Amino acid sequence: MNRLAIGVDLGGTNLRIAAVDEQGKLVEKITLDTQVSLGRDHVIGEMCNAIQRMSDKYKNSAPLVGIGVGVPGIIDRQTGLVRESPNLPDWVDYPAQAAIEQRLKTVVILENDANVAALGEKWLGAAKDCDDMAMLTLGTGVGGGLVVGGKIWGGANGMAGEFGHTTVEPDGHICGCGNHGCLEQYASATAMVRMAREAVSRDGTSALARALHSDPGFSAKSLYNLAAQGDEDARRIFRYVGRCLGIVLSALVNSLNLPIYVIGGGASSAWDAFSPAMFEELRRRSLVFDATTVQDPNAIHEGAAAHVKPGSGHRTVITHAQLGSDAGLYGAARLPMIAGS
Ligand SMILES: [Zn+2]
Repeated sequence: MNRLAIGVDLGGTNLRIAAVDEQGKLVEKITLDTQVSLGRDHVIGEMCNAIQRMSDKYKNSAPLVGIGVGVPGIIDRQTGLVRESPNLPDWVDYPAQAAIEQRLKTVVILENDANVAALGEKWLGAAKDCDDMAMLTLGTGVGGGLVVGGKIWGGANGMAGEFGHTTVEPDGHICGCGNHGCLEQYASATAMVRMAREAVSRDGTSALARALHSDPGFSAKSLYNLAAQGDEDARRIFRYVGRCLGIVLSALVNSLNLPIYVIGGGASSAWDAFSPAMFEELRRRSLVFDATTVQDPNAIHEGAAAHVKPGSGHRTVITHAQLGSDAGLYGAARLPMIAGS
């Protein structure tokens, strides 16, 4: 049997653990409620028990390559400290790696969750034909990850790739990171709902206002459904989401000239609604994008640039992710497979 690695995706609401073989086959996947409110020791304890059970289950049939854990937050790679995590409030300067290793009595690799999602898409998803790629994940926040030479580019401290905290509005909405006007405040699922509420406060009689008032669970998906039905208020919000993504992607394309940029996360399913404005912004703002992409504007607007094979003809491809919410699990399992290579 092929060797296995265990990948962990620690989210704010649930904890997912998978055994993945070296060919990328998902052997087993489990989901646990994280219950973050019970504190970090509880979360770490539940996680380690589940990892141990999974590791014991396969130990006689497949050698374990290692364990990778994706954590939402700023991680210091040298020390294994979670410096801070918006979804895990009591994990400030918390030595998570040491806490996990003590319980499991083995080495684990800790990484930022958006970085591992990027690695997953590089390994098995939209960027599998490229060694170099960047990813943006549009979820509760906006995560970023950069892969260079097939490995996560962490920078000096392992903190690189925070594209979601790039400023798109100099005096814009306050962000959880302390800055004003971050991309995260205009392109996350949370931001989309906030912008819908702001639009409604200006015009309380619109279809968007009726939808917001009648649906207590109004979400980015609800907003997308309205846009798909032609609602102009919802469409305007997605055009703005696209503009902000285009501004940040233009900076990335100009700075990095990578063959492919992947957009994932739950809110990326609104691709049809935001991508025309995103591509328009890219063509307007990035000379490198303009010089390296298909020149048919209609093709670009339909997102057909995605059909150009990444890495071929030195084209810049900007496309949506392929692995959905499993990208982080695959990426986390991939960490020990490429460690030291
Ligand atoms: Zn920010």
